[in-house]
Amino acid sequence: MVLPVPPDHLVIFGRPGSGKSSLAERLGAEFGYDLIRTGEMLRAAIRRHDFLGQRVESHLAKGDLVPDPLIFELLELNLKSPGTDRLLFDGFPRTMGQVPLLEQFEERLNFRIECYLEIAVSHEEAVARMTGRRVCPKCGTTYHLIARPPRVPETCDLDGTRLERRPDDTKEVVEFRQKIYDDYAVPILRHYQEKCPEFYRKVDGNQPLEAVYVEARRALGMDG
Ligand code: AMP
Repeated sequence: MVLPVPPDHLVIFGRPGSGKSSLAERLGAEFGYDLIRTGEMLRAAIRRHDFLGQRVESHLAKGDLVPDPLIFELLELNLKSPGTDRLLFDGFPRTMGQVPLLEQFEERLNFRIECYLEIAVSHEEAVARMTGRRVCPKCGTTYHLIARPPRVPETCDLDGTRLERRPDDTKEVVEFRQKIYDDYAVPILRHYQEKCPEFYRKVDGNQPLEAVYVEARRALGMDG
């Protein structure tokens, strides 16, 4: 089977600090994807202090993964048909246990993932980028001191809120999250590469964000 271009349903993978979330936001805005971002959904639940948020808060603060059954619960709440015409998954699946969960949603909501896109970045580059990240505590928009600075220093462009460092962006947590990626995500990438190499795309994420974006668009067949 050939890759439909551009794909209507895709998953983006990349280690924390790979720039995958900025890329997802940009592709989402330009090509009309609904973004399914489990990390952002979890942070929103924590901000609301709802029942799910209370149960996941300590996992996020430590940089640890949230248990699969809670991720299932989160997606049950957020992923509904209709609304599955164009989906871009960012941050899910994150464990081999979540791979069949995604298949279950594909089956139930009647869509198929047509592309698995890996943004490949070295451990060192990812760590350097993560320590410069800032986020708006009100709306969740992500900035970067070098790669994506706000118009006014330390202030959200959208709502003027003072930006913060994510509690999981400290040096120890950053290193821990890299290890989690190596332990859990690398086997998932291997799995999809072996299972459906025709749907697998890999982009060099060690370049400036703009170059990564251009290469990703090309890899996804978005340039005509
Ligand atoms: P992210 O914004 O994708 O970097 O995710 C931030 C944090 O949310 C991660 O470090 C995990 O604690 C948690 N998280 C996000 N997505 C998942 C997932 N699919 N499975 C387990 N934990 C997750």
